[in-house]
Amino acid sequence: MTKVNQNIRFEDVLNLLKTYIKNEEELSLIHDAYLYTKEKHQGEVRLTGDDYINHPLNVAYILANMQADYQTICAGLLHDILENRENSKEELKEKFGEDVYSLVEGVTTINRLSFNGDNDSKLASQRKILVGLTEDVRVIFIKLADRLHNMRTLWAIDSKAQREKAKETLDILVPIAARLGMNQIKGELEDLCLRYLKPDVYFSIVEALNETKLERDQTVEKMIAEVEKILNANHIPHKIKGRSKSIYSIYKKMDKGKSFRNIYDLFAMRIYVNTESECYQVLGLIHAKFKPMPKRFKDYVANPKPNMYQSLHTTVFGIDGKLFEIQIRTYEMDAIAENGIASHWSYKEHGSNVKANIQNAMEQKLQFFKTMMELRKEETSDEAFVNSVKSDILKESIYVFTPKGDAIELPNGSTPIDFAYRVHSKVGDSMVGAIVNNQIAPLDYVLKDGDIVNIKTNKSAIPSKEWMNIAYTQQAKNKIKAFFNKIDKEEYLKKGEEEVKAELRKRKVSFNEFFTPENTEKMLSEMKCANMEELYTNIGNGKTTATLALNTIQNNNDTKEELILKKVTDREIKPVVIKDDIIVEGIDSIKVNVANCCQPIPGDNIVGYITKGNGISVHRMNCPNMDHVDERVISVHWNDTVSKKYHTSLLIEAENSKNVLLDIISKTSSGDIIVDSINTLKRSGDTSLIEITIRVPNLEKLKKFMHDLESLKHIISVERLIK
Ligand code: MN
Repeated sequence: MTKVNQNIRFEDVLNLLKTYIKNEEELSLIHDAYLYTKEKHQGEVRLTGDDYINHPLNVAYILANMQADYQTICAGLLHDILENRENSKEELKEKFGEDVYSLVEGVTTINRLSFNGDNDSKLASQRKILVGLTEDVRVIFIKLADRLHNMRTLWAIDSKAQREKAKETLDILVPIAARLGMNQIKGELEDLCLRYLKPDVYFSIVEALNETKLERDQTVEKMIAEVEKILNANHIPHKIKGRSKSIYSIYKKMDKGKSFRNIYDLFAMRIYVNTESECYQVLGLIHAKFKPMPKRFKDYVANPKPNMYQSLHTTVFGIDGKLFEIQIRTYEMDAIAENGIASHWSYKEHGSNVKANIQNAMEQKLQFFKTMMELRKEETSDEAFVNSVKSDILKESIYVFTPKGDAIELPNGSTPIDFAYRVHSKVGDSMVGAIVNNQIAPLDYVLKDGDIVNIKTNKSAIPSKEWMNIAYTQQAKNKIKAFFNKIDKEEYLKKGEEEVKAELRKRKVSFNEFFTPENTEKMLSEMKCANMEELYTNIGNGKTTATLALNTIQNNNDTKEELILKKVTDREIKPVVIKDDIIVEGIDSIKVNVANCCQPIPGDNIVGYITKGNGISVHRMNCPNMDHVDERVISVHWNDTVSKKYHTSLLIEAENSKNVLLDIISKTSSGDIIVDSINTLKRSGDTSLIEITIRVPNLEKLKKFMHDLESLKHIISVERLIK
């Protein structure tokens, strides 16, 4: 048991260390660390009035109680050294080695962040704590020891700061200690938190316990004597301890509506034996003598808790008819029950890497570790990560079982969907239904402690998007989202690839010819994509286009302009409906067309030509095609109310210049003129002949447009085209 003594001396720490550290070099480095930290903190005084050195000594003592390795002990002694920025990191590294340095540095970072106090740094600090679990959990052991001693001396700070520290401890550090199986630290932290968060409750429980202590101690002693007699008679070597329930656990029970009388009438004891089979023997002997209370037996030996805890639990009607909670475990199980993963320091193997050893044990033995690693990969912001861990991992949890009896730990509120995804993504993705305790359960069923869950899967099944609303854990939600992202991604990828191939066909280039290694590399670097999959995906989902991508290699013209011109040249020309726009003298209803050769527009002087069987064709007065006809000519004129735009074509002579087509198009931007097509008819030497077909509302607008074109730098002449 940890000695709650403010005046720990280095000798106390050393004596404890010598019980499990035999290496003289290691002990001597620890001694150096002590002297170094003592010198560095010389003259500093804590708010409690103690010399500062008292704090690192207590931290080291708490760590030594966990049988921490020498590096952790050194770092525990040195953990506040870097708070003073004048102290040299290099010196620390040089004197105590890289490992000790990085442990100290880890604790310092966490403490510095949380010291800032604003919400962002609090979240950043909490994230560091959580991520620290996955990197070198020894940083967290030191942090827990540091916090435990600070909580023991919390009376020295003001009450607002007390509550804040207590709340953070209860929110983050207590659940972490629980997940790591470090029940001893967890229990003491909980009691201390209660003392500062609900002092009235805390002290009333303490008082009630004190009042009844003598009587209760006598009852427990009597019962212990009875049990000893039985075990001795059966030659089972053992130790028995009366166990006081923690103040916090009493508070929790009262919180659930039990009266104090009921709770403290419950006595507790713990029996330690050498072997697992002796655990069951002891259980049998006790049940033979004292009647067990129904449904209270729990076999955590055969079914360990996900934090590795093992023990047999039973409640019996003991002497004087009083209820006794009895825990039976081996000494080895006890070490794990008290210190959890921290009991996995390896002193047996020489030269073994303690850090690797513990991280490995975490990976193998602690379920939450895998979940934490997954969340770490998925969540980006401090807030999202910390909140996900809080709700998925640190929240009050339930234990449910697979049909094979493996315990799965889930936050309270989880559904079969969460269970399936916690077992494996594949199980979740192919789930078709759930059977809970031998009955078909709906997917939104809220799992209860002890449920046995059997997930029915089908290889060809896929998840439903609706599950995102049903699932409780962030982990399941992320995995469902990932499933659909992957499907979408595959679709985009396929679509993008098809678009690139279509564009290559249009350019009449073969795929292999185009995608030489050099071209591919150039294209990817210009498009800022890591690989072709990413590029295809971006084309498929519309972030970019195949044309733009291919233009990085094969580009004759300015990309954007090419695209506009392409649109324009591809446009289909539809005839304008001219009903009522042209008035034919003396004739009411007759079919009227505008001639294609001279393309008259409103404002032009026009004449009608009576065709054979195709109504009246309207030409411009000066159209050469009308020169030698007269008997079929009929007088026509434009109706004043014409509002439609008419097609007409222009012939433009221009100097060869890269941007001339675009310059021409830019002059149509007022909206009066619409370009239907633009084509370079021929290119000879320095000049080109360009045909442009436009739609215009009237002659006035056309004249202005032609004038605008003539004023362009590279334009030589503009005239209306008569074919
Ligand atoms: Mn400290």
